[in-house]
Amino acid sequence: MTLLAPPLCPACGAHCGEGQPLCAGCREDLRWLSGGPETVAGVPVWAPLSYAGSAPGLVRALKYRGALQLADAMAAHIAAGIPAGHGRSATLVPVPMDSGRRRRRGYNQAERLAAALGRRTGAPVADCLERTGPAGPQVGRTRENRLRALGEVRARAHVSPPPNVLLVDDVVTTGATLAACARALRAAGVRRLAAVAYARTPGR
Ligand SMILES: [Zn+2]
Repeated sequence: MTLLAPPLCPACGAHCGEGQPLCAGCREDLRWLSGGPETVAGVPVWAPLSYAGSAPGLVRALKYRGALQLADAMAAHIAAGIPAGHGRSATLVPVPMDSGRRRRRGYNQAERLAAALGRRTGAPVADCLERTGPAGPQVGRTRENRLRALGEVRARAHVSPPPNVLLVDDVVTTGATLAACARALRAAGVRRLAAVAYARTPGR
């Protein structure tokens, strides 16, 4: 191992250019979304990228390989394009991960993303949701069982949710997790609610 080895792309392992968080190929294969927030599960959600091209590799790198320097690059992409007024004056709330999985992984990627976004925008962060219940392996489950296996999301007992929330997640696909978070926040009295993710499935 040499200290002079060039950094490797966290999404694909290729060499990155000097000072670049991603290799040139992955940068070119980011599929930028245009347009404003889309409503998913009753919540206006905005994401800079389509969950296609190199985005799934980046999301996996943040989630499973602990490429935490990526959180800041991803937060920069979110902060640079977020539409005016979306989540204005809101407190950032990371989408929770169940405590067993968080212990095994050592971190929740949505927390890292929310923290990086907070550092960039000055918005406060409140980790006020928790996930409980069963969360076994997802492989081989039917869709319905998978949704049940997500467990239950609820507001933490000793943290009152802020009145104006911008939920933060790495990726929004089915919207099931977002819906569970929205239910918990609304039940806890939150009236203004929007969400950002790094990538989402387009055209929902
Ligand atoms: Zn790459």
